[in-house]
Amino acid sequence: MRRGSKDAILVVMNRRRFVQSASLAAGAAVTAGAVQAASGAAQSRASLRVNGTRVNTHIKELAAFGKNPQGGVSRVAYSEADRQGREYTMGLMRAAQLTVSVDVAGNIWGRRPGSDAALKPIVFGSHIDSVPEGGNYDGDVGVLGSIEVAQSLAEAGATTRHSLEVVVWQNEEGGLWGSHAVTGPVTAQELAQMAWSGKSIRDGIAFLGGDPSKLDSVRRRQGDIAGYLELHIEQGGTLDREKVAIGIVEGIVGIARWRVTVGGFANHAGTTEMAGRRDALLASARLIEAVNRIVTSRPGRQVGTVGRIQAFPGAANVIPGRVEFSIEIRDLDASNIDLLGTQIREEATRIGKLNDTTFSFIVDSAPHKPALSHPALRAHIAAAARQLGLTAKVMPSGAGHDAQNAALIGPMAMIFVPSVGGISHSPREFTTPEDVVSGTNVLLHTLLAFDAAGAPR
Ligand SMILES: [Zn+2]
Repeated sequence: MRRGSKDAILVVMNRRRFVQSASLAAGAAVTAGAVQAASGAAQSRASLRVNGTRVNTHIKELAAFGKNPQGGVSRVAYSEADRQGREYTMGLMRAAQLTVSVDVAGNIWGRRPGSDAALKPIVFGSHIDSVPEGGNYDGDVGVLGSIEVAQSLAEAGATTRHSLEVVVWQNEEGGLWGSHAVTGPVTAQELAQMAWSGKSIRDGIAFLGGDPSKLDSVRRRQGDIAGYLELHIEQGGTLDREKVAIGIVEGIVGIARWRVTVGGFANHAGTTEMAGRRDALLASARLIEAVNRIVTSRPGRQVGTVGRIQAFPGAANVIPGRVEFSIEIRDLDASNIDLLGTQIREEATRIGKLNDTTFSFIVDSAPHKPALSHPALRAHIAAAARQLGLTAKVMPSGAGHDAQNAALIGPMAMIFVPSVGGISHSPREFTTPEDVVSGTNVLLHTLLAFDAAGAPR
């Protein structure tokens, strides 16, 4: 809620800082140079723009670390390329006048003080690690866009009420590890897991300058932050196909996953008559078809997938006596996920009776609950896009992001920019420079509106 915020001097403009640097002039963007008095602060704030040339140059420069022959990067967490990319990024943060530190979990933080020390910080950022043979935009756009926002504010001499924290989460692609450590307890078993780099999570954290034995000290709890914003590429084709500039993320879908074991009876494929066979693979096939039918029988955007299957003993001349497969369901609505899960189990029972097979469902450890973005922050994004003359649409995120962990400790929102052709996790991943600039400006103005209005309740 805004309470007279227009009158308050929320952003203190320092006129002496309005000397345009050469890079700023080259980058097209700003300026709010006409500010003469505090009453003009709101208007000058509205005309503030990021340096588009600079943020796109930074994307190109970061792409050098872990560069692969296909034109993307292989900058997996805890690799030498990751370390170098982080060094480069920390340099940009310092140039943006952020105070840089690495926490015990290996996350990088760049802090900028606000004018009201009583307010909790606004956190914004993303990640720079990639999948093996990844692209140059996933995560990078959010990190470099966030740093660009900080630098633009510094150059404009704009002080926010809330302190600002730009975060570079470590090892997003390998399982949201950095944000997990900040928002939830990390078990010894988890720390022993192996990352793509060949290092365990524990060794990886130490490699980045963290201290895996002190992870408890990095924990933040509900209410410790004013909120969290993340700019990210869509990684799907919706915005590109519909020619929409900005995605306002409604939430990050929840995932439920089961390991299903079907029990039948293995027997000779030549001598066992068709009638009376307890074929576990046939029963599995029926349920796989049913998963698709049940998931598509309801209106909504839920998705259901059987992605892995194995039949035992797995010989051409033996009726399968046992089959194991996975079922995964994703949706923004947790109750819908539960309902679909129940319907699938009921169908399994029915199918089992047809050929005397049994189904057992084990809930997989990977799933997580849906994380909804905060309506007040979504409204700030919508207003920022409108103010900038950009089209926008509200949409779910089918992919996981650090924002889903951040949502555990405060209000969260995400801004998507288009991925050309919907391609991601590929060297061919591409977001146009114009869309990068649009997204970064939306981040800037969402942040300013958030700062003015205060943390939503
Ligand atoms: Zn990402």
